Amino acid sequence: MNEPFCRKCLIEKLDPLGINETVRKRAELIPDHEKTDGVTYGKRLSACSECKELISGTCRICGCFVELRAAYSEKHCPHPQRYW
Ligand code: SF4
Repeated sequence: MNEPFCRKCLIEKLDPLGINETVRKRAELIPDHEKTDGVTYGKRLSACSECKELISGTCRICGCFVELRAAYSEKHCPHPQRYW
């Protein structure tokens, strides 16, 4: 039986087409000096997980996979409230 569709999941949990693996590999290519530290990364993803703009691992405002956007230290949340 298939899992029910969840609008609030990160792609880590959905992964319908192996997107999670692709995003993970892409994030590994980010140079260390451009990468978000682990604690900050976790806080960013927690904020996204609670955000109404998250849909299927993608931010509805910027269209990014949040797990990749959050991995860049210089990126920020595009929401007017700037959650991270
Ligand atoms: S608006 Fe910000 S917190 Fe919300 S999903 Fe997009 S990046 Fe994440």
